[in-house]
Amino acid sequence: MDFSLTEQQRMFCDSVATFARKELADGALARAHTPEFPRDVARLMAGAGLLGITIPEADGGTGGTLMDAVLAIEQVARFCPRSADAVAEGSFGAIRVLAHFGTDDQKRRYLAPLLAGDELIVVAMTEPDAGSATTDLKTTATPDGKGFRINGSKVFPNPHADQYLVYVRYGPGTGGIGSVMLRRNAKGFSIGKPGKFMSGNDWAPIFFDNVYIPPEDVVLRAGGFKKQIQGFNAERIGNASRSLAYGLYCFNLAREYAKTRKQFGRLLCEFQGLQWKFADMKMKLDAAQLLLYRAASNADSGLPAPDETTVAKLMCNQAGFEVANEAMQIMGGLGYTQETLVDYCLRRCRGWMIAGGSVEMLKNRMAEFIFERHFSQRPPRAVS
Ligand SMILES: Cc1cc2nc3c(=O)[nH]c(=O)nc-3n(C[C@H](O)[C@H](O)[C@H](O)COP(=O)(O)OP(=O)(O)OC[C@H]3O[C@@H](n4cnc5c(N)ncnc54)[C@H](O)[C@@H]3O)c2cc1C
Repeated sequence: MDFSLTEQQRMFCDSVATFARKELADGALARAHTPEFPRDVARLMAGAGLLGITIPEADGGTGGTLMDAVLAIEQVARFCPRSADAVAEGSFGAIRVLAHFGTDDQKRRYLAPLLAGDELIVVAMTEPDAGSATTDLKTTATPDGKGFRINGSKVFPNPHADQYLVYVRYGPGTGGIGSVMLRRNAKGFSIGKPGKFMSGNDWAPIFFDNVYIPPEDVVLRAGGFKKQIQGFNAERIGNASRSLAYGLYCFNLAREYAKTRKQFGRLLCEFQGLQWKFADMKMKLDAAQLLLYRAASNADSGLPAPDETTVAKLMCNQAGFEVANEAMQIMGGLGYTQETLVDYCLRRCRGWMIAGGSVEMLKNRMAEFIFERHFSQRPPRAVS
């Protein structure tokens, strides 16, 4: 067992940090307060080989590992937390489902513009009555000739995306779920009134009114749900990486602040009450980082193990939020302003405790791993 990064990984970290310091550090504050996805950054990242890190070279990616993507997110976020989104969107989640299960034609039409940084994809999964209970989704895909007609609605996706990977129901039960691709200009597709997340990012309900999906835009047919969830395990690593990276960002900022800010004629770092906060923060970050690195590096030899991914996401989500919160406290009134990125990191980290599997749902999963049995969350069936 070796807990240190390889020489190659250290060199990769250095080169990403150099790129991020030079290209992204300026404007980090403004970028964080822009509700739209930073498309200019995505194009820059594409040029630097930081989009599609986990996508095979044959599909236009850079053929790296999940661990490479985790390290890239960490290094980019050191200089511009918001820009880490571009790395995450380019390596985890919907893009990987497309790369894994898409046809060559779909990869050419949908994946290629994503990898060039020209387009953005998001997953459209959550519905008004199907949140944590994803498999209750009602959006239907009804056969029409060789294709399908989609009817239904989703909530919470980014309304500025170009492409949507939509979870649909071809038939009853979990086995009836699959997914299709569509672009925002599809006939019958509409975007409702945008709202704001606490992070400042936009979301909006989206509607499908008899949208025709040709057969070449079907990604997974009925029975595809389990495959999608495997993709989701990797998505959880992307979500966890940003929680951790944001926590590290806040820790470093608060540490520098405590080394220079004086009160009562002494540096903040000399007060034991604050030293203990730093000790707790460091403990949480180290634990989260080790769990995340374990999940990511073990996944590099196959698909991510669900138990390792679950515990890593839980720990990173909690550590990121708690550390950002403590950093804010340590930085006093300044921490609570928007002059630094601590408040932004805190708000983003809070969202990751809900998105991509809430902390409660992850704890339910952990109970299943611990007791090696399934616990249905549904009410018991009436005995007749
Ligand atoms: C920042 C952000 C970005 C998002 N982006 C997207 C996106 O791009 N695409 C998309 O489709 N969706 C997106 N979502 C939606 C997200 O996937 C859902 O919010 C999430 O699945 C929870 O569903 P819900 O909001 O309906 O909450 P509910 O499922 O109604 O849950 C409410 C509360 O009850 C808890 N709870 C529910 N069931 C149980 C249980 N069995 N045991 C214990 N506790 C339980 C939950 O943990 C939560 O705390 C995003 C959400 C956020 C916050």
